[in-house]
This record gives sequence, C-alpha cells and structure tokens, in this order.
Amino acid sequence: MAPIEEPAPTAAEPGAGAADPAVRPVDVLRVTSVQDVTRAVRRVTLTASAAVVAACGPTMSLLVPRPDDRSPRWPQVARDGRIVWPQGSHGVALRSYTARRQDPSAGEIDVDFVLHGDGPAASWAASAQPGAVLGLASAAPLGASPAGWLLLAGDETALPAISRILAAAAPDTRGVALLEVAGPQEEQPLAAPAGVELRWLHRAGTAPEASTLLVDAVAALSRPPGEDLFAWVGAESAVVRAVRADLRGRWGLRRGQHHAIGYWRAGRAMSPAG
Ligand SMILES: Cc1cc2nc3c(=O)[nH]c(=O)nc-3n(C[C@H](O)[C@H](O)[C@H](O)COP(=O)(O)OP(=O)(O)OC[C@H]3O[C@@H](n4cnc5c(N)ncnc54)[C@H](O)[C@@H]3O)c2cc1C
Repeated sequence: MAPIEEPAPTAAEPGAGAADPAVRPVDVLRVTSVQDVTRAVRRVTLTASAAVVAACGPTMSLLVPRPDDRSPRWPQVARDGRIVWPQGSHGVALRSYTARRQDPSAGEIDVDFVLHGDGPAASWAASAQPGAVLGLASAAPLGASPAGWLLLAGDETALPAISRILAAAAPDTRGVALLEVAGPQEEQPLAAPAGVELRWLHRAGTAPEASTLLVDAVAALSRPPGEDLFAWVGAESAVVRAVRADLRGRWGLRRGQHHAIGYWRAGRAMSPAG
C-alpha cells in the first residue's frame, strides 16, 4: 500500500534481475469482466490463483500498465517489500486500490475504480477489457478496528473499504457512515448493522477537489460518550488532514482510536512511480 502519509516505495536498484534470489516477480491479475456500478465507478473482476486471491487485499499496491499493454515490463519485489523497477522506460504506475470482494475459491477479486478522468489507473480502468492485466506488488490491512461505536467517513474511492468495514462489523455496532458522492445516482447499496446510520452527502455539482462536505459533516457531529469508539477516514488528502485534526482535537481520539488516510491528492498524482 502507498498511502500519502507513508513513505512511497523506493524505486530502483537498476540491474536487479529475474535470477536474483532477493527479489520475486509480481503476481499478475487478469481481467475477466468489467461492469459499470454507477456512471463514475467501474468494477473490474480479476482472476488469479486461490493463494494469490486469498492474500491480495484488502488494500492492494497495484501495478498499472498503459492501457492495452498486455506484456508490460513489470518491476520485481524485494524481500523487504521495495519495488525494484526495471531499467529504462516501463510505463507501469504504482497505485493503491481496495479489493471490494475477494473469493479465493472462485479465484476472483473485484476492484471498483473511480473514473475520475485523469491518471494512469483511471485511464486503465476506463478502457479495461477481458484479458487486460494488472500487477500486484503487495497487500495491507484496511486499518480499521472493531468498536462499539464507529465513525466512517469517505468519498467514492473509500466506498470499497467502507463496505468491507461495515460487512465485518458486529451486528450490535452503532455509529454513522458519512459517504460523499457526486449525487444520488452515485449511491451504492451497502449492507450495514442496523445501528449504523448511512448518511449520503451529495456534492451536487461541486468538484471533488473543492468539496468540504466531509469536513463539515464531521464538524457537526458530537463526540459519542465513552472510549469504545473508532473512526476510519479515507478521502482527498487535505480533507483527511482537516477531519483528523478535528477528531484528535475536539474528540480527543487517541492513536489507536482512529485511522485517517489520504486516498488521493487534489492536483497531484499519487506516486512518483507513475
Ligand atoms: C489505501 C488506498 C486505497 C484506495 N482504494 C481505492 C479504490 O478501491 N478505488 C478507487 O477508485 N480509488 C482508490 N484509492 C484512490 C486511488 O489510489 C487514487 O484516486 C489514485 O490517485 C488514482 O490514480 P490515477 O492514476 O487514476 O490518478 P493519479 O495519477 O494519481 O492522479 C491524476 C490526477 O487525478 C486526480 N485524482 C486522483 N484521484 C481522483 C479522484 N478520486 N477524484 C478526482 N480527482 C482525482 C489527481 O488529483 C491528479 O490531478 C485508494 C487509495 C489508497 C491510498
């Protein structure tokens, strides 16, 4: 995973080769089907061996080739997790995504890509067809912890993660999920415990990079009593910084009571590798 707050994977050691025992090849995921969940979200179903599917998520560091490149020059992965890029031009970008569904017995993974209109990953997803390939460099947890009261806050990019957190929550969990999308047409059905309110926030024409909906919605929430609570936040980087500051300050959340990660960065690509 390469969230903004953590150091990006280091590129390079040129010359590391396939025979080098200190590196391993990336796992290759192949597209089997593509489906539009909404106008802005495309679900890509990928196949791999049961072992790769079981270990591939929930958060994935994906290697995204140029659209239509079915034989990319993949990097390799060092024992310590560093990406070892091939020398010269390779056209592969490193981006973080979430496995919305992992089914090892079927050898299937679903990834929901936001078609935000720019960038190697969004462009790849916009033209993905069966047979297209992605590389998988590494996997990581979502960072959520179970608690009696949950605050979840995110935009379209975080819906796959939030859907998994809600699905894994105990039936008696209470709380609120603040879900920012472009409008009612972008809402998705989410299974949640009865005590967790799903509150959809509509940008209604405001550009994603200009939206303060999540910051304002969290600012309007009173802290629930007690310490059995956890907040999970995934959205644009500046939004996440503002929400995190509010939760640490006004709510007094300790380190183990929240996980707030910038999922994308307005005006900038996510990784120097792209
Ligand atoms: C742990 C983690 C999990 C993630 N899971 C998912 C997921 O399941 N699905 C998903 O769609 N995204 C997910 N993201 C977000 C995704 O990695 C970023 O949106 C990423 O920037 C997309 O890469 P790109 O190559 O399309 O665009 P980039 O090359 O990174 O950026 C190009 C331009 O597009 C803009 N941009 C990037 N994302 C958006 C956006 N969402 N809306 C508007 N403008 C944008 C940037 O500001 C930049 O100007 C996740 C991020 C993290 C850190």
